[in-house]
Amino acid sequence: MQILARCPKCDAGLPVDAGDGPFTIRCGRCATDIPLSFTEALRSDRAVDRCPLCAGGDFYRRKDFDPKLGVAIVAIGAVISAICYWYGRDLIAYGVLAAAAVIDLIVYGVLNDLTVCYRCHSEFRGSYERTAAGFDLHTADVLELEYERKIGRR
Ligand SMILES: [Zn+2]
Ligand SMILES: [Zn+2]
Repeated sequence: MQILARCPKCDAGLPVDAGDGPFTIRCGRCATDIPLSFTEALRSDRAVDRCPLCAGGDFYRRKDFDPKLGVAIVAIGAVISAICYWYGRDLIAYGVLAAAAVIDLIVYGVLNDLTVCYRCHSEFRGSYERTAAGFDLHTADVLELEYERKIGRR
């Protein structure tokens, strides 16, 4: 399983492989040492049951979507439609915008789900079974506050 651990201090994303732990990684940005401990399920890529970073057991599921990709698609569409508009071809311009939106939807649809820790926002990618529910704002509010108090951010 691939894990993107979030540095508790500076929020940098640190990619790690779930392996035989516990071990400690060092943040490349702020040089904080971050102890990680992986459960058996994490190591064998079966399930995300406990966060190796904050030891929390609450996760949500979201699409593994790179926002930059979506922005790029829309930007390309906008440029093409601007060129068409310049030549007075309104219909084509609208068509291109619509096409960009459709491409966006398709890309979004084929993406895999990934699991995210509510507390520390670490991300989990792998072939494990997705059991987490969708994002819940109230849960996020409660758990993020709890975590930030614990690590002394608030
Ligand atoms: Zn850091
Ligand atoms: Zn966590």
